[in-house]
Amino acid sequence: MADSPSPAPKADILVIDDMPENLNLLAAMLMQQGYKVRSVTKGTTGLRGAQVAPPDLILLDINMPEMNGREVCQRLKADARTRDIPVIFISALGDVLDKVNAFAVGGVDYISKPFQVEEVLARIENHLTLRRLQRQLQAQNAQLQQEMLERQQAEEKFSKAFRLSPNPIAIATHSEGRLLDVNPSFLTMGGYPFDEVIGRTVDELGLFRSGEAMVPFSMQGWQSLVASAMPNQEAEFLTRSGSLKTILFSLEPIELVGMTCVLLMINDITERKRLENEFISLVSHELRTPLTSLMGSLDLLASGQLGHLTEQGQRVLQIATTNTDRLNRLVDDILDLERMRSGKIEIRRVPCQVSDLLQQAIDAMQSMADQAEISLILQAPDTSFDPTIEADPDRLLQMIINLLSNAIKFSSSGGRVWVRKQIVAPSQFVERGDGSAIASDGEIPGSVLSSVQSFSSDAPGLLIGVEDEGRGIPADMVQRIFERFQQVDALDSRRKGGTGLGLAICRNIVEQHGGRIWVESELGQGSRFWVWLPQRGETQMNTDGHR
Ligand code: ADP
Repeated sequence: MADSPSPAPKADILVIDDMPENLNLLAAMLMQQGYKVRSVTKGTTGLRGAQVAPPDLILLDINMPEMNGREVCQRLKADARTRDIPVIFISALGDVLDKVNAFAVGGVDYISKPFQVEEVLARIENHLTLRRLQRQLQAQNAQLQQEMLERQQAEEKFSKAFRLSPNPIAIATHSEGRLLDVNPSFLTMGGYPFDEVIGRTVDELGLFRSGEAMVPFSMQGWQSLVASAMPNQEAEFLTRSGSLKTILFSLEPIELVGMTCVLLMINDITERKRLENEFISLVSHELRTPLTSLMGSLDLLASGQLGHLTEQGQRVLQIATTNTDRLNRLVDDILDLERMRSGKIEIRRVPCQVSDLLQQAIDAMQSMADQAEISLILQAPDTSFDPTIEADPDRLLQMIINLLSNAIKFSSSGGRVWVRKQIVAPSQFVERGDGSAIASDGEIPGSVLSSVQSFSSDAPGLLIGVEDEGRGIPADMVQRIFERFQQVDALDSRRKGGTGLGLAICRNIVEQHGGRIWVESELGQGSRFWVWLPQRGETQMNTDGHR
């Protein structure tokens, strides 16, 4: 009832008065207004009732035999359970001294006999409202205190984790990467004294090496670092003494004293990488000899020169051969990558006819595509357009075949795979209103245009695209899959026969030609791998991305 005169009809009121006629009158008046009323004639009974079930308000007669109202009030105020209940005294008209005493023992108000209905109700309502507000305030206070405590605890925890973390952590401003705080592990890894880094920017200190081998586009500075933020990106960190550490880093935005900052969390994997490299090359070299002999023996068995095998024997031999082939491929890939990384494989640049290369790659993959029921489509908007590029044809072929093999492997039967090529010089792009662009021999998506522009000078380059309609790659993996042994699904190597090294090899080949490789993908929709190579290869990078 919106127009009810009492906004708190359910309040519980205890009336203590030794005169039954007073009690009845008050109780009837209050109940009519919707209050819940308990009435008692003795001070002791009233006290007990208030302790057992504290009411919202007490009306208390001052003058009562046995225990008078003042004493009842004193006891109510002395007990934590009843201390906060507002007490309104009932006094005889003109009993001034009683009223003064009543306030002294903790009463909040008084009403005089004979009762004026409106006055009694107004005073009761007034004090109920005050009590409600007081309760709300107490609850808010308690909540605030709890929040402050939790905040304090969270800050303490964060601060402890920050100081004691074995991983280097820094807090920097989001806008320019100015270091506000770094933890001891950060200083230990970088060899910097605290004062030398605080207040300076990541760029001024040159902390991050361009890491071209690690990320698709060169990190030109803090801005591109923040823009390309991905969890656990690999990069190189320059220490004070000039040595390079391989790190994984993540950037997490945080608000600090009203400023947008980032938490830069680093994992130093230099030693792990070194051991991994050593282990890999040792294992692969050690595997090479016994593997060759194993393959020879299996060949001999298969040839029947040592007697004929039963059908079951042939099946087992087939399984052994398939797995040995896979192992052999893995060792080949590892050694290949090792040789590239250590610069033992020189690339031989000769003018190559790009269309020829693409056609050779398609021919090489056609039977695999047929088996998987995938159509390979060479997209050539202008057949007369046949650019040449200075590159190592064997290596380029190896790379395109790798990309095609993946596109086929990760597509479902009936799918299509497109290969396309374009010669592009960023300034020759004609941008169109819809964000895409026209290059010399066809269209390219706007995203590719901005990628190429971000790393390329204006020298013309060859853009190769391999596009599929397959399962796609999750966003957090689009950079990582170019690292060794990174597969989206741990079962891929067994199910699809891969080694997790194909793309690492591709990236190496591309970087040795001074180019870039990256992928755009949408889960369930397909992937587009893009390779950009300078048309004339003056620059050559080694595998770490340094010239
Ligand atoms: P693999 O030998 O496993 O194919 P790669 O280095 O060539 O190794 O690829 C690494 C991983 O990247 C693959 O295992 C797969 O998870 C993912 N991947 C590569 N190409 C594609 C693609 N075209 N579609 C979906 N996922 C892909």
